[in-house]
Formats: sequence, structure tokens, C-alpha cells
Amino acid sequence: PIVYLNGQFLPLDQAFVPVLDRGFVFGDGIYEVVPVYSRLAFRIEEHLHRLQHSLDGIRLDNPFSREQWIELIEELIARNDGEDQYLYLQLTRGVAKRDHAFPKEVTPTVFMMSSLLVHPPQALVETGVAAVSVVDNRWDRCDIKAISLLPNVLLRQTAVDHQAAEAVMFRDGILTEGSASNIFFVENGVIMAPPKDNHMLPGITYDLVLELADAHGMPYEIGKYDQERVRRADELWMTSSTREVLPITQLDGQPINNGKPGPLFKKMYALYQDYKAHVMRR
Ligand code: PLP
Repeated sequence: PIVYLNGQFLPLDQAFVPVLDRGFVFGDGIYEVVPVYSRLAFRIEEHLHRLQHSLDGIRLDNPFSREQWIELIEELIARNDGEDQYLYLQLTRGVAKRDHAFPKEVTPTVFMMSSLLVHPPQALVETGVAAVSVVDNRWDRCDIKAISLLPNVLLRQTAVDHQAAEAVMFRDGILTEGSASNIFFVENGVIMAPPKDNHMLPGITYDLVLELADAHGMPYEIGKYDQERVRRADELWMTSSTREVLPITQLDGQPINNGKPGPLFKKMYALYQDYKAHVMRR
């Protein structure tokens, strides 16, 4: 694969960052993940908007205009194989003598890479995935897509240790999100979702799911929901750019409802696939 690093396109195995990069030393940076379908970056305006929100959150100036980002992203896509790719974009505060406070006059490190997009296997869509519930022990700026992901890494490993695909987090007993996804549940025909506040990442897929619900007359409600309500849900879903919408059919070893993907999931999944196909045809 060809990657972008600080103004240059080069092979991945020739891309290096100095060890004093603040990303390496402090986790002082932010990132984005953008799916590419048929060589078109999906929801790119939304991703660039969230990138700006993350940069503002860590007080790092955006080195590029919207137009420059689009140009670089198009070039990265063109230089890599695969009709469907996923892009990883990362910015750190740059290379400087180790000191917690912001360095003066430092150039941010900008890195972008493309990988082949692996679509969620159909079997997962049809049977659903298992999840475990965990305590959300992260900081209170989860709206920033920060590269310091240690809590998410540890919680996802807890899920994997239990043969589960995702960890569903609860902060003070209230649903927030997954270790790398947003979480929805269904109660009496209504889609329920946590609010976009500082306790969760504002998912691009989260917004799209609610947009599709709006457009197709599927009622939804945003609120704070406790663990018992989630356990008793008729359906439980997870969403992310790479996993799209997947049903969670088991939580902590217990089935959600009858343990099968529900009717609203099937409807939303179909709407999501239609939306993708429609956007790509334009
Ligand atoms: N929440 C967290 C913590 C994530 O890491 C992600 C992305 O992988 C999401 C939610 C979903 O966001 P998106 O739909 O933009 O991929």
C-alpha cells in the first residue's frame, strides 16, 4: 500500500516517524476512519467536519483546507488497490522534546493510509454477534476521536476474551457506546439511542441511521437508558463505518429477546445498503 506522510506519498514500509513524535510519546493526536466504496469516500464532508471537531478539542490547528483534504484523499484512493477501501487519517502535535505542555512552533505530523475494506460477513448480519457489558472507565471527552485508545483497547480485549465481538459500555449504569461502535436498542417498535454528548463519539453511522429512520418513518428516541432496559430490549444493534449496522443477539451470554436479529434491524440494514448503493451510483 501507498501511504501519505507529511507531504509525501510513499510505500508503507518506507514511512517512518521519529520516536519523539508526541503521538508516540503522549498519544497526543486524533484520527478518522473513512470507508471508500467504488473509489468514493463515503460521507467525506461529515468525516472532515468531525476531524475539525477533534482538532478543536485538542487545540491543534488544521494544516489543510477542506479542498486540500479532498485532493489528498482522492490521490490516496487513486494510488491504492481496491474499489472498496478504508482510509485511516491521523494527526499528531508533531515531534518535540518531551514536555507535557504544547511545544512552540512545531509542525503537526499528518499520516494517511488505505487498506482493503473487508465487508462484514453475511453470517454476522444473519445471526448477529455477541457482546459483553463493561464499565465505561474513559475520560469525559469521548466526543474527541483521540488516538489515545488504551481504555477502548482493554475493553475490546475483555470482549474478545469472552468470545464476543464488542464491549457495550455503561457509565454510572447508563448506556454510552461500544469500544469502537455506537449502540442502539429497540423497545416497543421505537429505536432508542444515547445522546451525542461528551460521553460518546458522534458516529457518522449513528447520524446516518437516525437520518434513515427519519426519512422512512421509523420512530426513535434519544435519552439516557440504564443497563436493565438494554438487557430487556427487543433488539440491540451496533454501528460503525466499517461494521455498518450489525445486530447484537447476545449480551453477557444471555440472548437479547429470542436471540435472533429483529425486524427493525432487518429494515434498517436494507435501508443502509440501499443508501450506499444509491450514493455510489451518482
Ligand atoms: N464510538 C467509538 C468509540 C468508535 O471508535 C467508533 C468508530 O469506530 C464509533 C463510535 C463509530 O463511529 P463511526 O460510525 O463514525 O465509524
